[in-house]
Amino acid sequence: MPIHLSYQGTICSSCGTDFISYPQNNHCPKCGRSSDESCDFIVATIATMKDHKQVYGQYFPETWFSGSTADLVQGIIFELFDNLEIEKPKDINDFLLRQLKAVEWEEDQKHLASQINQIALQVYDLYKSDPDFRSDNLKTKPLNPKLKHLQSSPSESVDTSS
Ligand SMILES: [Zn+2]
Repeated sequence: MPIHLSYQGTICSSCGTDFISYPQNNHCPKCGRSSDESCDFIVATIATMKDHKQVYGQYFPETWFSGSTADLVQGIIFELFDNLEIEKPKDINDFLLRQLKAVEWEEDQKHLASQINQIALQVYDLYKSDPDFRSDNLKTKPLNPKLKHLQSSPSESVDTSS
């Protein structure tokens, strides 16, 4: 199962814009008002990327339901990093600009492009220096044996005759 954050996104209390509020940047990208709410989005996204890579062999899972702004942003980040590993760009800024230009934004989502650019750069900073992302470590790591116990065993037949 793909992993979704419990954080869905922040709605600006002043202009109603949906955006991602995280400790490094909790300002509305449209009107600049800061929000009290914030999610450690960079760290959480990296954790999800590692899990997805282990389970699916890539960051973008087989199916991804975008039910929130956070889902939408994460889905794009997953694709960006899948593409990044294929293309291995020399210039990350140029790569992000090209990739984000190719996304078909809805009218009320365009402000997310610059947010995603900033978030992707911060993810990339950690990504670069994290040996867990290197040399296919994630692909070869066996699944945590604990996960096996999460699979539900067939339930015992329940006697309903009484
Ligand atoms: Zn606002």
